[in-house]
Amino acid sequence: MNRRSFLGASLASAAVAGAQTRYDIVIKNGEIRDPAKDVRRRGDVAVLDGRIAAVEADIPAARAASVIDAKGSYITPGLVDLHTHCFWGASFGVEPDPIAKRSGVTTWVDAGTFAHDQIEGFRKFVIDRSQVRIFGFVYLYPNSRNPDLDPVKYVRGLMRATGRMIEANKDVVLGIKLQVGSNMNGRYSPEFLKIAREWCDAFRVQLMAHISFSPPETDEVMPLMRSGDVVTHCYNTHGIGIVEKSGEIKASVLDARKRGVKFDTGHGLGSFNFEIARKAMAAGFLPDTISTDIYNLNVKGPVFDMPTTMSKMLHLGMSFEDILLRTTVNAARIVNRVPGLGTLDVGAPADLAVLAIEEGKFPLTDSQRNTVTADKRIVCRETICRGKRMA
Ligand SMILES: [Zn+2]
Repeated sequence: MNRRSFLGASLASAAVAGAQTRYDIVIKNGEIRDPAKDVRRRGDVAVLDGRIAAVEADIPAARAASVIDAKGSYITPGLVDLHTHCFWGASFGVEPDPIAKRSGVTTWVDAGTFAHDQIEGFRKFVIDRSQVRIFGFVYLYPNSRNPDLDPVKYVRGLMRATGRMIEANKDVVLGIKLQVGSNMNGRYSPEFLKIAREWCDAFRVQLMAHISFSPPETDEVMPLMRSGDVVTHCYNTHGIGIVEKSGEIKASVLDARKRGVKFDTGHGLGSFNFEIARKAMAAGFLPDTISTDIYNLNVKGPVFDMPTTMSKMLHLGMSFEDILLRTTVNAARIVNRVPGLGTLDVGAPADLAVLAIEEGKFPLTDSQRNTVTADKRIVCRETICRGKRMA
């Protein structure tokens, strides 16, 4: 649907949602936060037929089949996690729905748990069977077990098959995920990044570059990133980082951001460091998106879930609203497949989270096992996806 017809549909559903409409769900008495329009006010949100049907100061509870009391909580768009591994049963993938229920994440972007020849299985057994929305970046790396194979030739040889796969699955495949760094079983070559660049240009898709151990250097990677591409693990401690020893942000990183390259946290088991994040934020460099890089080796710590990652950013000094912007509409714009996703527009998909900020003493641990004690944490009290409460 283009933007105009989407707005038309919104107006139509708003008109249909008249005084006598019975809603599927009404969330009442919450603090509404819709970062797409910088909305911050108390009110109610109604859901009907999988869409947001009304956002008003007071919607009578009697008009809803199901009522959620959000007193003391925030009603927000469902969270969008731009870097996850949710191909359950393959590699380190977690099962998304049970985690979504407790975390508010209604859109999951899989960052390369699947290769070009695994998309059909990922779609049939994970995407189609999950309540949450799932998209993904296809993994570009030689997965052949033959040690004699030249990995660069191997990857280049897959170009056509991967291209066909991308074309046939553009509804869910956003682009290519590439691990950039020397820790790839000693098989890293700068050629991979060049091949990925060619690929993304040829098939007009985005590149998600995971930055880790150099070589290559940051200044060699950034010029190959274009507008709309994503650099993930931006607060890592590794050689390909964004912060100079002096604490300034590297010039090539600032240039990339100016060109429209997006920078994502991608917490993970090894890639989120409080000190680097503090330095980057002190230099004015906030991430464009906040993601977890959740998989089954970090879901029991230090990542746990999206609210825990958000709590770390809150502890580092970001406002709740700034965090929400980066976990809803900013990430949804990169996904760019579902009109209204990541917003509370009337007519938008009814993906919602009820979040709260609790006060107390909460230990939070980064990827290097540095622990801080936060006096606040963000928790999820309810998740609604596609108009239904997650069970
Ligand atoms: Zn990852």
